Amino acid sequence: MRGAIDETHDASRRSWVESANRRGCDFPLQNLPLGVFRRRDRNESPRGGGAIGDRVVDVAACRDAGLFTDLADTAAEACADPTLNRLMGLGPDAWSALRRAVWGLLLEGDERIRATTGWRTRLVPEMSAVELLVPATIGDFTDFFSSLHHATNAGRLFRPDQPLLPNYKHVPIAYHGRASSVVVSGTSIRRPSGQTLAADASQPVFGPTRALDYEAELGFFVGQGNELGVSRSIGDAEDGLFGMCLLNDWSARDVQKWEAQPLGPFLAKSFATSISPWIVTFDALAPFRVAAPARLQGDPQPLAYLDHGQASDRSGIDVTIEAFLSTPEMRANGIAPTRLSHGRSAELYWTPGQLLTHHASNGCDTRPGDLLGSGTVSGPNRDNEGCLLELTRGGREPITLPGGETRRFLADGDEVILEGHCEAEGFARIGFGACRGRILPAHMNN
Ligand code: CA
Repeated sequence: MRGAIDETHDASRRSWVESANRRGCDFPLQNLPLGVFRRRDRNESPRGGGAIGDRVVDVAACRDAGLFTDLADTAAEACADPTLNRLMGLGPDAWSALRRAVWGLLLEGDERIRATTGWRTRLVPEMSAVELLVPATIGDFTDFFSSLHHATNAGRLFRPDQPLLPNYKHVPIAYHGRASSVVVSGTSIRRPSGQTLAADASQPVFGPTRALDYEAELGFFVGQGNELGVSRSIGDAEDGLFGMCLLNDWSARDVQKWEAQPLGPFLAKSFATSISPWIVTFDALAPFRVAAPARLQGDPQPLAYLDHGQASDRSGIDVTIEAFLSTPEMRANGIAPTRLSHGRSAELYWTPGQLLTHHASNGCDTRPGDLLGSGTVSGPNRDNEGCLLELTRGGREPITLPGGETRRFLADGDEVILEGHCEAEGFARIGFGACRGRILPAHMNN
């Protein structure tokens, strides 16, 4: 299991970037997530950087200023690329070396960045002055189904007699998603059209979905790849995981219901997937490791290739993920986004290491920048249900919003905002930022 606790996690350390020390800040010195940005005011290609408070660390510019050495320098050089794929492929030693070096540069009392000419705009521009982009070229996107609660709740709507299929507790279930339509937070989402069969109809029709939903999930970026034909072992699976982001798997439930049998989701989900721009590294997540949920009495133990063994007590990760909704009427009336649900990744039935190990277990190659989704993060209670399909019981029980509006599914103009954070006694809280998407009306030319 990766991720020893070291001085970079010490909650008492502060940054000379004052905004990073504010209570509740998602990006304190102890986090240092990585992403890709482009300055709005310069004709400059996108590049890799880190988040600190309300600023971005331009890693490549810091390298040009001679602020890195050795392995950190090699990693920093890769940040000059317009995507993080090459950095992801360098592996965990390089990622850790870069983290430690950037931490040292931002530590209270360190003067090296501020001794560089033009540092304010060149080395640590304000986040408001940059555009954040999808951080990697995503070759493949696979979305899992690792919340037992979500699988049971969603299954109950389709199969009341047998909500959970017999394979669920043995094999991590997934479908192959669409990489080309993964978009960064803030990108508007066009309501898709598709083929649906109404409950009382004998023939399907084609038109805008009437059951547009979100799914609150976590995304895992693959770091080092595995060769075609060569599987991964569970013991070092995490060396193949670069970090985590928030992920919204937009879903057209009416399209899904009609098309998904027997081969699973296709156009109901391939129209868009939103991710948050900052990737929180597994090194930053070290203080928030937890035991994977114990298998209940009568549940099968994982097969050997998925068994974490002695490492099980740290194989899970405790991220709280929250979903908020803001409607046009709420915004017009000055009503703040309302929280629809909150869930914890600590409750997922399958761990990130198990997902990647399973993915490669048949010899399928995975590559730097590939994206895995956790599946909807739902928990045991009503307010832990991470999508409207669950919250409204398939649209049968609308929810009431502040201001009196109701929703079965998303309306045009609605904005879904995912937020995530980690907290543990004795450690600094770290956050994921936000993953936003607002619904545009359907194209009406079809
Ligand atoms: Ca999903």
